[in-house]
Amino acid sequence: MKDYRLVARISEAEIAEQVDRLAQEINRDHGGEPLLVIGILKGAWMFLADLTRRLAMPVEVDFVRLASYGLGSETSGEVRITKDLELPVRGRHVLVVEDIVDTGLTLEWYLRHLKHLDAASVKLCAFIDKYERREAEVPLDYVGIRVPEGFLVGYGLDFAEKHRNLGAIYEVEFLG
Ligand code: 5GP
Repeated sequence: MKDYRLVARISEAEIAEQVDRLAQEINRDHGGEPLLVIGILKGAWMFLADLTRRLAMPVEVDFVRLASYGLGSETSGEVRITKDLELPVRGRHVLVVEDIVDTGLTLEWYLRHLKHLDAASVKLCAFIDKYERREAEVPLDYVGIRVPEGFLVGYGLDFAEKHRNLGAIYEVEFLG
């Protein structure tokens, strides 16, 4: 693998500020209604942990893992579920929590899938909206931070499974 370095992009303080704001918006919009929070593995785990502990309504948490048939860093839009939900969705208010939305193809596919499960409502929350390469117009209800481009790691996001544990967000810069 090529050498690379990590360039600081979003600090822990900025992350905490945005997570607070998102939790306030979600609390305001949902009143006291119970919420089923669906985290998309693996990337969303750290954000989901921070967000859900700030939510005021009764919360249940479940996870899905999606595999995309994309080549390299490109997403093809052909997705399959490698770990499915364990809790029922029918009649529930659902909040889908995603780490980062790039082309939007993965989330678009999953939303189509969720439609068949008859939730009472479905809202989308992404910590990072990486908007420049968007191909599918996914309706993001809650967004932490908007960035145009760049491959980001930390705060749950990996590069070849590394750096997920970093508390801040960095951009991968290749050397040479
Ligand atoms: P999309 O289908 O929106 O193109 O891709 C979404 C998925 O691609 C994200 O859930 C994430 O797993 C991965 N991804 C997109 N951009 C980045 C990035 O900058 N860093 C990392 N680590 N993963 C990314």
